[in-house]
Amino acid sequence: MNPAERVMSILNLALQGVSLQRDPMDDILEDILKRKNTLEEIRNAAQENMKLRLKLRNSVKAVQDLLSERTKRLKLNEKNFQIYNPASLINIDETFEIIHRIDSTLQQEETSINSLNKHYELQDFIKSHYQIRTYSFQIKKCGEEGCKFCLPIRLPKDIFDELKFIPDPMLSTDLEHYKDFDDLYGTETKEFLPSASESTKEDIPSGIINNSNIRKLINCTICNKPRCIFSKNALNDEKKTSLEILLDNVIYICGSPIAPETHNLYKKVYIRQKIHCSSPIEAVYFSCRRLKTEIICFYCGEKNELLEPDDSLKKKFTTIYPFCQTCKSKGYNWPTRGRIKVRN
Ligand SMILES: [Zn+2]
Ligand SMILES: [Zn+2]
Ligand SMILES: [Zn+2]
Repeated sequence: MNPAERVMSILNLALQGVSLQRDPMDDILEDILKRKNTLEEIRNAAQENMKLRLKLRNSVKAVQDLLSERTKRLKLNEKNFQIYNPASLINIDETFEIIHRIDSTLQQEETSINSLNKHYELQDFIKSHYQIRTYSFQIKKCGEEGCKFCLPIRLPKDIFDELKFIPDPMLSTDLEHYKDFDDLYGTETKEFLPSASESTKEDIPSGIINNSNIRKLINCTICNKPRCIFSKNALNDEKKTSLEILLDNVIYICGSPIAPETHNLYKKVYIRQKIHCSSPIEAVYFSCRRLKTEIICFYCGEKNELLEPDDSLKKKFTTIYPFCQTCKSKGYNWPTRGRIKVRN
């Protein structure tokens, strides 16, 4: 694991052996909340109902404090983890004032990758001034003369020219350690993520990966794609609760197992491990009837700008998966299955 990935497993430690419960609100507010299932629904409700917004914030305060207290005690290389407060609405407005100097068309609610991709001025700016990785984000003056975004460079030119993006951690030739920072600084490096390479271990008994065996979905912390959790038999109430608690406590990333060996659900529930964040949504997700699923693009998992298949495609295939404009522009083909044989 590289240092950024190690952070994820350390973060899980703060969540071990702790049970969390927010403070109750009054009955009316609890009743409103009971009918909201997703965070998005809760956010929308709180947007309209100021009282709910304020009381809900108070209600989760103790949980946040507890988690913050536990997280602050974690360490990596003798350095304690730090907790930051979420951005206030004022902060967000101020940030957008600056973003609008780069691209005046971007709206605050456009948070998905697909919607950001449509803002070409922003994309141009990103390409020439950023280095974006899964776990890091760097921004630097581009140094181009006549750039319409960068203010003049204040550092002496020879010092500015020496400033490079921080390189990615790279494995050394012994494959046991990482290369020295000084050897890599200023060189082109590529992101190397063990979690992005296909896991070779996948010990799932045959017949389990089936749409009728999907018991729950979990979203990857990094790519946000839903991944299916399977079990051979239906889970009884005790196992269901056990799974809910497990999922509430785990920071899941594509390719990792779901139940640790010591857990009572080990070898009872399964998740595909030969996948990584760029793997498409599992085909069984689309045929799952047991759980509430969303119509999302087969490749990227986004629900914006889905395309309508035309009749000629419908005549050729028995199954046509949802497909979005962004993936089409990237050169992907319609995801389909089961070519219908046409007799001449
Ligand atoms: Zn620039
Ligand atoms: Zn992922
Ligand atoms: Zn897509």
